[in-house]
Amino acid sequence: MTASHCDTLVKCGVLVLQDEQRTVLRDAGLAVADGRVLAVGPWTKMRDVYGPDGDISGSSGAADSVGSPESAPHGPVAREAAAPGPKLLDLSGCLVLPGLVNAHTHAAMTLFRGLGDDLPLMRWLTERIWPLEKILTPELVHTGALLACCEMAATGTTCYADMYAFSRQSAAAARRVGLRAMPADGLLTSATLSYQGPEAGLELAETLIAEFRDDPLVRPVVMVHTVHTASAELIARSHELAVAADVPWMTHLAESRSEIERTRALYDGARPLDVLERLGALDERTVLVHGVRLTDAEIDRTARAGAAVVHNPVSNAKLANGMAPTARLLAAGVGVGLGTDGAASNNTLNMFKEMRMAAQTAKVRDLDPEAVSAQAALDMATLGGARCLRRPGLGTLAPGGAADLCALDLAAPGLVPLHSPVSNAVYAATGAEVRLTMVAGRVVYRADAFPHSPFPGVDYPALLEEVRAVRAFLLRRAGVVPTA
Ligand SMILES: [Zn+2]
Repeated sequence: MTASHCDTLVKCGVLVLQDEQRTVLRDAGLAVADGRVLAVGPWTKMRDVYGPDGDISGSSGAADSVGSPESAPHGPVAREAAAPGPKLLDLSGCLVLPGLVNAHTHAAMTLFRGLGDDLPLMRWLTERIWPLEKILTPELVHTGALLACCEMAATGTTCYADMYAFSRQSAAAARRVGLRAMPADGLLTSATLSYQGPEAGLELAETLIAEFRDDPLVRPVVMVHTVHTASAELIARSHELAVAADVPWMTHLAESRSEIERTRALYDGARPLDVLERLGALDERTVLVHGVRLTDAEIDRTARAGAAVVHNPVSNAKLANGMAPTARLLAAGVGVGLGTDGAASNNTLNMFKEMRMAAQTAKVRDLDPEAVSAQAALDMATLGGARCLRRPGLGTLAPGGAADLCALDLAAPGLVPLHSPVSNAVYAATGAEVRLTMVAGRVVYRADAFPHSPFPGVDYPALLEEVRAVRAFLLRRAGVVPTA
C-alpha cells in the first residue's frame, strides 16, 4: 500500500515528538505532506505504508543520507528516489527534534557581535550600540538579518520573533533562508530609523501585517519597545491593532531595575505590569519579554490574564539583570518561551545554549535541582515558544504539526552514549551537532554542504565577504574601536 500524498519520508534514528505524552521513538519514520507532519511511527511500518515499492533502507542508496555513521557518503545534492513515491531522507544517524522557536531576538544585531562586551548598560549603549545604529540602512539591516537567519538555521531554529528597524529586511532574509519569521519594527514614541513618530509607527505595523497576510513564512507581530519609551496612547492603540489583526502583542518588560524605576517615575509609582493592566494591554495575546523582575503577585496576574513570558537567560546573565523566576511562572501556568535576544548581548543566536542556561540558571536561582528540568527547558524552546507566538502547529512533530525539524549527529562525541535523548539535547548538545534543519518540509540547512552552500538560496561565501565589508564600514563611520 502506498499513500501517494506523502511527499517526503524521513528515517529517524531517534525522534523526539514533543506531543502531549512527550513521546520519544527510536528507529522511527516521519511522513511529510504539504509542509506538515502526516504521520509518525516505527520505521518498518512507515516504510510499508508510505514508502515506494522495494528496499529503501538507509544503505540501499535510494535515500539522501545525512549524519549517519552507517549511511552512504555525505553529499550536498539530494537524490530523488525512483518514482513513484516520496523523496526519502535518511536521518537514521541523527536525533531529530522539532525545530526550535527563538521567541525574541534582534536579528540584525549580529553585525555588532563582540563589540563592547562587559560594559555597564549605559556605556554599552551610548559608546557602542547607539552610534552604530544611527548609521544603519535597510541594506545593512538585511545583511545582518541574513547572517542571523543562517546562524539560526545552522543551530536548529526554524522560527523567530524579531524586533528591529527596517523589519521588512528581516522578512526578506527569512524568506531567502526559508525560516519562519515574526518581525516587528519596535514601537517607540520618538522617531526611529524606520518612521518619524508614533502615528507613522502604527501605520507601518498595520501595513506590514496586511502586506504579509498570506505569506507562508512571515507573520508580522506588534511590539512596543518598553512601557517607559512608549506613551500610554501608543501602548493602548498598538494593543488594539494587535487585537484587530489577531497577532501577538509584545513588549520588553521587567528586564532591569532601571526600567522599573523609569516607569515608576513616569506613572506615579506604578510598575510596568500595572501600566499594561490599566491600559487594557494585558491579555492572552500579550507577551512579556524578559520578566526578570516580576513579583509573585505579578506572576499570578500574568497567569490570570493568560499572557506569556519569553525568558532570555544568556542575555539576562550577560547584562547582569538577574534571572526570571521561571519555575514560579511555570507553576502558575504561564506560558514560557525562550529567546536569545540580540547577538550584541548574548553573543550568539543559538537556542541550544539558551536551553542549557534556562535549566541551569533556574537551579542556581532557586537553589533547587528540580526547578527547571531538561524536559521543561526543551518545552520552553519548542511548545512554549509556539504558545507565546500563538502558533499551535509549531514546536511539535505530532501529526498535523508543521514539518519543522532539526537533526543532531548522534555520532558526535558529546552525544554518546544516548541514555536520554532529551538530556543530551539540553545538557550536552552545543548546536554544532546540527546536521540538517527543515522548515515546512523543505531543507534550509545542511552541514555537509559547508563551506559553499549549506543554505540553499544563499551564496554563503558572498555573504561572508559582505559582512566583512559592512564591519569595516561601520567601524569607519561610527569611529568605534573594537575592544581587544
Ligand atoms: Zn530584546
